[in-house]
Amino acid sequence: MSLMRGLMMEMPLLISSLIRYAAEYHGGREIVTRTIEKDIHRTTYAEVYRRTQQLAHALTALGAEPGDRIGTIGWNSHRHLEVYYAVSGIGAILHTINPRLFADQLVYIMNHAEDRFLFVDSSFVPLIEQLADKLPKVEGIVVMAAEDRMPETTLANVHCHETLIAGRPEHYDWPRFDENTASSLCYTSGTTGNPKGVLYSHRSTVIHSWCVCSADTLGINNRDSLLVIVPMFHANAWGTPYAAAMCGAKLVFPGPHLDGQSVHELIESEGITASAAVPTVWLGILQYLEETGKTLDTLERVAIGGTAAPPVMVRTLQEAYGVRVCHAWGMTEMSPLGTTGVLKGESLMLPKEEQYKLQEKQGRGIYGVDLKIVDDDGEPLARDGVAFGNLMVRGPWISSGYFKGEGGDVLDPDGWFPTGDVATLDAEGYMQITDRAKDVIKSGGEWIGSIELENVAMEHPGVAECAVIGVKHPKWDERPLLLAVRRPGSNVTPAELLGFFAGKVAKWWLPDDVVFLDELPHTPTGKVLKTALRERFADHVLPTAGVAE
Ligand code: ADP
Repeated sequence: MSLMRGLMMEMPLLISSLIRYAAEYHGGREIVTRTIEKDIHRTTYAEVYRRTQQLAHALTALGAEPGDRIGTIGWNSHRHLEVYYAVSGIGAILHTINPRLFADQLVYIMNHAEDRFLFVDSSFVPLIEQLADKLPKVEGIVVMAAEDRMPETTLANVHCHETLIAGRPEHYDWPRFDENTASSLCYTSGTTGNPKGVLYSHRSTVIHSWCVCSADTLGINNRDSLLVIVPMFHANAWGTPYAAAMCGAKLVFPGPHLDGQSVHELIESEGITASAAVPTVWLGILQYLEETGKTLDTLERVAIGGTAAPPVMVRTLQEAYGVRVCHAWGMTEMSPLGTTGVLKGESLMLPKEEQYKLQEKQGRGIYGVDLKIVDDDGEPLARDGVAFGNLMVRGPWISSGYFKGEGGDVLDPDGWFPTGDVATLDAEGYMQITDRAKDVIKSGGEWIGSIELENVAMEHPGVAECAVIGVKHPKWDERPLLLAVRRPGSNVTPAELLGFFAGKVAKWWLPDDVVFLDELPHTPTGKVLKTALRERFADHVLPTAGVAE
């Protein structure tokens, strides 16, 4: 018996086809940006596509070649979108850079990536001026601004985005190449060790976009007006700029203005139906709504991920504002979608409280991402919602290794990628993260999951934000310490907050102490920076430390 080849066309899945489709079939659909200066800029897919082709000509004229890395340091905007498509379209590699990284990390990743050109927002020009002499590979810098908004600068080889593309031909013959060609590069924020580069391909990006458009995930579709809050430098804004072009959704970019009022204004003025962001941004929006009594009339659904969505946030959005929440989990290494919390048909038959319990989980397995949990010897664990272990993933939009081989062979012998998360899987395929492996609290040989404790604390009306970390304990090795930020006007005491846990978690999980802080430190992608908290509270003496139990 021999296998027979199918007779389907061999059309490579290329990123240029996404924006060409959007222009051809949804040319009049709007793309709206709130600029750095706070005014509203309006354009369409047709116009963005014309300008993308002009930019592709400009890049070629500058000398950019296929395979070159081209960095961007910018907020979400229409020009950033043009750079997304033009760079990958010509076969070069779009390297999105997180401007919130420390200066030495920025220098490290730009040199590691060997970026030849940089596209930057005008507000980042002073930053680049400081770093320029440490970036020997960078040959030119394009400021993503109009001519009259070009900043004064001491930088050499600076171009204005508008001047650069002006007068260039409006048609570019996109090259056709192998769909496995690298398209973009994004470094993980590297809370431990140096950042590592995740190198996406055209193929992985296009099929991930189909996934983002699927009704069982974010369900981005043509009727949507999509507010892209998650930054374009955080795992390609969770793939939304590609998915939106694939279906012709209206795209709305908030620029750097992510405060509650600015976001709410855009939701109202642009008739936003769908959005995606990390919990801290939703926290700000919910606070603003509470203070002003405003509502979210057009917003149908939101994706929340990056860190655990506190259950109280899910409930408030759904019940007080009528917005359906899709709790999602993923990683930069996973393009990033891994699991999504759109409930299964059977789950919708369950009583409401049980549905909420499911929404607390990080979502369920989706086509394209295989999931398994294993013990420390790599042996698979039961899918019973109780056994927890190292979460491993496999699929066509998941990294097989890091750029330039950093970190060595990351896959296990069977080709699974270790996520570094500790999770349970239940019989229905819902996955729940108990912790990042490095954040797990080890007490008396047992594990305590910090996320569950944080979720409980967040239910207390006096708590705005919190984190639970393990601190040294003479008898139990480690015990949980709850660090919390009070809501404005709240006087909740440590004893009250601890009392709030009664009956909600196993007794031996109760935090041993509570410390209130003015704010919590965050990573550049909006996670609580637990490494910093562990350092700061390394010598914290728990009230239970001297107590014989
Ligand atoms: P970085 O590490 O660069 O900040 P990533 O977004 O790639 O960025 O981080 C991925 C990690 O974020 C996951 O491994 C997981 O620990 C955490 N994470 C993402 N989504 C969730 C979620 N919904 N609940 C809990 N943790 C999450």
